[in-house]
This record gives sequence, C-alpha cells and structure tokens, in this order.
Amino acid sequence: MPKAAASSRFAPTLQAPLLTLKDCTVKSLPPLLGATKTQLTDWVQAQGQPAYRGQQLHQWIYQKGARSLLDITVFPKQWREMVADIPVGRSELHHRSEAQDGTVKFLLRLADGQIIETVGIPTARRLTVCVSSQVGCAMGCDFCATGKGGFLRHLACHEIVDQVLTVQEDFQERVSNIVFMGMGEPLLNLENVTAAVRSLNEDIGIGQRSITISTVGIPGRIRQLAEYDLQVTLAVSLHASNQTLREKLVPSAKHYRLEALLADCRAYVERTGRRISFEYIVLAGFNDRTEHAFELAKLLRGFQAHVNLIPYNPINEVDYQRPTPQQLQAFLQVLQRQHIAASIRQSRGLDQDAACGQLRASLAESVG
Ligand code: SF4
Repeated sequence: MPKAAASSRFAPTLQAPLLTLKDCTVKSLPPLLGATKTQLTDWVQAQGQPAYRGQQLHQWIYQKGARSLLDITVFPKQWREMVADIPVGRSELHHRSEAQDGTVKFLLRLADGQIIETVGIPTARRLTVCVSSQVGCAMGCDFCATGKGGFLRHLACHEIVDQVLTVQEDFQERVSNIVFMGMGEPLLNLENVTAAVRSLNEDIGIGQRSITISTVGIPGRIRQLAEYDLQVTLAVSLHASNQTLREKLVPSAKHYRLEALLADCRAYVERTGRRISFEYIVLAGFNDRTEHAFELAKLLRGFQAHVNLIPYNPINEVDYQRPTPQQLQAFLQVLQRQHIAASIRQSRGLDQDAACGQLRASLAESVG
C-alpha cells in the first residue's frame, strides 16, 4: 500500500466536528478521546469557539483526565453546559486489585456495560500497560481464560486509549510502555488498534518503539500491519516448535501453518527493519523438553528475532502446569547455545491472576 494511503487509514476519524449543536444528538457523536488536536480544534470552531479552545480541550482530555466537558473549567460555563452530554469516552472503574509486587489489575466497565481487563505493571524504570483490544476473543487458545469465554466485540479506539489514561492516573506516573497483550487478538481489530497507536503516540506522547502489538497470527494481517510503516514491536505468539504441537494450543493454527506464519514474519522484518519478538508460553511436560528447544532454535535460525519464554500461569479451568525454574533454565540455555537471543519473562502479579483474561474470568459472577 502506498504510504499516503496507509497513513490516512492510520488516522482516526471523528465525524462530529462539522455538526452544529443544533444538528447533533449525543448518540450521533463519537467520543472525543482518540481525536487529534486538529480534529478537536475543527470541532470547537464548528461550535463557534475560538481555535485555542481546541488546544485546551486536547490538554484536558489527554493530560488532565477530564471525564466530562463539564470538568473543563477554563471553558465558558454556558458553553460547557450546552455540550455537557457530548461523551469524552472514559470508562468506569469496575474493580481494582493490587498484587504484592505492585502490579495492578483493573476491570473497566464500558459504556455498553461490557467489562474489560487492563494491567499496570511498574518496575524501577518503567510503567507498562497491558491493554485489551477486544471484549473476549475468538481465537480459543487452549491455555487462555479469555479464549474460553468467546468473542463479544471489538474495542473502539477511545476504549483502548482510555485504558492507558486509567493506569496513568492511578499510578500518578507517566506510562512508558504499552503491550497489546490483554484480552483479544489485536490484528483482528487492526483499524482501531492502529488508530489507538497513533493517539497514544501523538496525543499522550508514548514512543512507537515502546508499543508492542502481540498476535497469535492471522493470515494476511502481519503483512497488512507492515504496510502501516509503524515503528512498533511485533510480538508473535508461537508457543510451539512444530505444527502439531501448535495446533493443540492454538486452534487457528490449522488454517495458518507455521511455515506461512514465519514467511509473513520474514516479510515484516524486511519491510519494517524491526526485530520480531516470539512469545513461547512454557507448559510443563508439554512443550518444554530439550528437543523442543532444539527444534525451536532450528525454526528461528537466521531470524532477526528475540524469544520470550513465558512460564505458564495456572488457571483453574485449564489443565496445564507451570514449569520448574530448572526446566525453564535448561530450555533457555539450549536456545542461547544455538545463538538464539532469548530470555525468560518474569511473572508479574501471579497472586492476582495476571495472565490475559484471568482476572475477568475469576470475577465472572459480577460481570455484566
Ligand atoms: S491467548 Fe490471546 S489470542 Fe489466544 S485466546 Fe487468549 S486472548 Fe485470544
């Protein structure tokens, strides 16, 4: 795709700006969150307000956390009251839980009552947010609580951006990194995800290189993502060293063979010049044997990639076990001796069911 076409698709649309207040009903307006400074300026001007109000609106929704236009006290009171019903697009906090290591899980209630999960993961130098891209997920990965519940809907751009603002406000600290590793398959919601990446980058100021989009692999979509010419990191959930094993964990792998997935990954690296991160969830007695490590090393030989080994986080309804630290180390050493860049991802928030969709599943009775 030509670059211009890609960037116009990358930009979110805000159809509200040219409506007058008289013309529009609240239901006809998309939320303001996710809109660019230019779009917000166009919109305030269409309301008869001076252009600098657009700058103020941008600052109040992205930096000061305004949840309603009524909160924006620098606006004239009369105008604020006139536009009070226009949604900013913030979600409600439904539940918050904090693990001993400082990881915080949030359940957010969307405007239609659906619940999504977001995780804030602090370290000494970073604050990372694990965001959801869909309500539920259609991919049905065998080890995943979200996959057990099925797919409900895509998240809109503002519902993704809102998750990051929620974490930033809760921690009272700037978010440094974003990982699209919460509920859902981001490449099935590519338009909203890339629009949210633009907003996170330009409106909130998070570097594209600090944003990771994770996928289990959707035919055609990795090449499509490459056409957006983003500087984000692509994380591909491989989870297995051969086709047979992968099909047992990721049902959709039947229709997207390992060779085709890796060919698309190679094309992605060629097009973007970005290294790919391969995710490998390590399940004791299933995909953690030495022969699997050798097989994985062979599969990825010569690839500009990094392998993240993720020790499985047990959940009640799934019959897999967490590997021992010794098993993990042995697996890692085989990869490293075969010159594959690899590391073990530290588990965070294990005491609060940190893995994707697990908190939401454990609170299922209060959802909806
Ligand atoms: S692991 Fe990710 S892609 Fe697979 S079912 Fe869970 S949320 Fe969906």
